[in-house]
Amino acid sequence: MSNKYLILIVEDEPNIASFIGTILEANNFETMFARNGAEAIMLITSHCPDVIILDLGLPDIDGQSIIQSVRSWSNVPIIVVSARTRERDKVMALEAGADDYITKPFGASELLARIRTALRHVQLREGERAKRPNGVFKTGELVVDYDKRRVYVKGQDVHLTQNEYKIVSLLSQYSGRVLTYDSIIKHIWGPNARQGNQILRVNMANIRRKIEESTAEPRYILTEMGVGYRMAEAEE
Ligand code: CA
Repeated sequence: MSNKYLILIVEDEPNIASFIGTILEANNFETMFARNGAEAIMLITSHCPDVIILDLGLPDIDGQSIIQSVRSWSNVPIIVVSARTRERDKVMALEAGADDYITKPFGASELLARIRTALRHVQLREGERAKRPNGVFKTGELVVDYDKRRVYVKGQDVHLTQNEYKIVSLLSQYSGRVLTYDSIIKHIWGPNARQGNQILRVNMANIRRKIEESTAEPRYILTEMGVGYRMAEAEE
């Protein structure tokens, strides 16, 4: 029995499938391929892969329905592969239950980072992490202290407001993963928030002024254009 992670690659374009396969196999992952949605569903039920890389544009079933179908019985991480211009698709895929997305064309390091993040979040989930985060989150010079509800940069308290803290804390708990604007707004302001996008943008501008060295080139909270925000990966 192999104890490598098994990655299912769902992709109808042979060149892209073999590109992804080569990268993963070179990095000690086991791979399995599906060229359409029907094959994908069959392999997911029969082989229980550890991560699914899912192209949204498949010849038979659309990616969206595959995500919804898989989510009705499995928490397996799904990383969606999508073209740069299809922001709406990415948002819909994330809201249907995909864990993350990667934009074509992409490189090996980006793909591997997404997979490792997805696997790390599964391990955290399986470790029955307490609902309330405790301890600290750290990336670069940024520290989120969950007990004190404070954020520090280079050891200095940056004095976030309540809502600013909630946003940073939420993103840090999903570090490395993109959260959609909608999911952040619902989490912070509730499901009936009005003009949520604008409030979020204003809050984010203030957060960045406080935590980033350059607001034009943020290092801690990255913008995923048209989709949402992503906190940089945690560092030990
Ligand atoms: Ca395709």
